[in-house]
Amino acid sequence: MTDAIEDLRTTADELARRVAGAVLLPGDEGYAEECATYNPAVPNNPAVVVGAAGPSDVQAALAYAKDHDLAVAVMNTGHTTVVAAGRTLLITTRRMDEVTIDPDARRARVGAGVRWQQVVDAAAEHGLAPLNGSSPLVGVVGYTLGGGLSATMGRKHGWASDHVTALDIVTADGQLRHADADVEPELFWAVRGSKSNLGVVTAMEFELFPVTRLTGGVLIFPGDQAGAVLRAYAALTAQAPDELTTSIAFMRLPDVPVFPEPLRGTFTVHVRVSFLGAAADADTLLAPLRAAAPIMIDTVGDMPYTDFAAIYSDPEGPAPFAERTLSLPPLTDDLVARLIAAIGPAADVPANIIELRHLGGALRDTPDGAGAAGLRTAEFVLWVVTVGGPDLTGPALRWTGELFDGLKPWALEGKHLNFIGQEDLAEEAVRAAYPAAVYGRLARAKAVYDPANVFHLNHNIRPAAAVA
Ligand SMILES: Cc1cc2nc3c(=O)[nH]c(=O)nc-3n(C[C@H](O)[C@H](O)[C@H](O)COP(=O)(O)OP(=O)(O)OC[C@H]3O[C@@H](n4cnc5c(N)ncnc54)[C@H](O)[C@@H]3O)c2cc1C
Repeated sequence: MTDAIEDLRTTADELARRVAGAVLLPGDEGYAEECATYNPAVPNNPAVVVGAAGPSDVQAALAYAKDHDLAVAVMNTGHTTVVAAGRTLLITTRRMDEVTIDPDARRARVGAGVRWQQVVDAAAEHGLAPLNGSSPLVGVVGYTLGGGLSATMGRKHGWASDHVTALDIVTADGQLRHADADVEPELFWAVRGSKSNLGVVTAMEFELFPVTRLTGGVLIFPGDQAGAVLRAYAALTAQAPDELTTSIAFMRLPDVPVFPEPLRGTFTVHVRVSFLGAAADADTLLAPLRAAAPIMIDTVGDMPYTDFAAIYSDPEGPAPFAERTLSLPPLTDDLVARLIAAIGPAADVPANIIELRHLGGALRDTPDGAGAAGLRTAEFVLWVVTVGGPDLTGPALRWTGELFDGLKPWALEGKHLNFIGQEDLAEEAVRAAYPAAVYGRLARAKAVYDPANVFHLNHNIRPAAAVA
């Protein structure tokens, strides 16, 4: 049945009676809050939003979407830029917020609405820690289904998606399925790299690691020292042990309140450090970097793992922003020279944050049972972020395109799925985000689990024609 958006209200009342969570339409009290994202630059105005409290709510929402011919989007925190507008049904997962830790098995089981700080705090009570990212507010499931590049332990333990041990998912046909290495293994592989392309994950189980403290923090240098700092950073990352996970960010921060006072309106270079070892050993590793240029702020030291958010101090948001990403090899002299020319103090740069996250180490490995995500051949992920409305992000995105054109001689296959922006959602760009064989296999899984492409409000993988 296809009906006009305004006619949905009658049938939505019936849906609301079957749903334990919330069913809201435009104009309803709470609709705007339910649809709110971390990135308000992306309009999120679905015809219906279902705040799912559990798998049966997700199933009811999918049945309703099918009956009314609505495309389906999935959201927890809204850190990714996905537009749900017009004839769409948005499923929000925040109500599924339970966390259980099994200290003997060193595993966590989380509902789809859980954010990282919740897991870090719960795991810490047992002397354990997960492969979380830089931000305490990012959602565990969305992050992990995109690979999950841990800002604290990525190089030591690899991609978070490779450490998932089981998940529950409602696929497009409305079935609640359990997937692990033995049950539905192809679904288990494909979900860990296709995000919401195959269905809505309602719960996920993953490994934890016996870590309670780390040596972490940030070194902040003045922007006019960018060349010296990047050269020292290239030397550091060329020799780094797997215990050291770092990134370097060239920050031209606008004078807006989401950024801290001393850094607003300035150009600075930040090296973010997480070391799984003693502070003295970190000092030895960091000595050449510390000597490379005058330091404005140095917070690197021993800290409880639960304080990981202090390493990046990511904005709590919400703030409108645009992002793009590219994968790069080691920082050879020619690449460093190209980067300094393009983003150093002499360059006219409209983007706010240009960040290189160091991969390598265990992130290169393909362990038994690995998922579809994971940039295993790149050494760095380049992430370019600009904060603001279209007047600011438009010129910045044009500039980013030119930056990426200039980096073509170095650019590598694949993209970190968690940093893909609106500009890279077209079919060819999504295809290019994966190695060709991985995309082909994902397209075959899509044809099995979502042949009608109900879940296309994402970085969309088209169902393979042969299987469909
Ligand atoms: C400040 C900041 C810091 C970040 N740091 C890191 C980092 O250190 N490492 C890293 O790898 N990434 C990082 N990211 C990127 C982040 O991992 C992605 O934006 C991720 O998609 C966020 O997931 P979410 O659930 O919070 O966001 P949402 O926008 O709610 O979800 C993102 C997407 O994930 C999918 N999804 C979410 N929940 C489900 C579900 N239950 N079932 C199926 N699909 C689902 C959907 O496709 C959805 O569009 C960062 C982003 C920001 C803005």
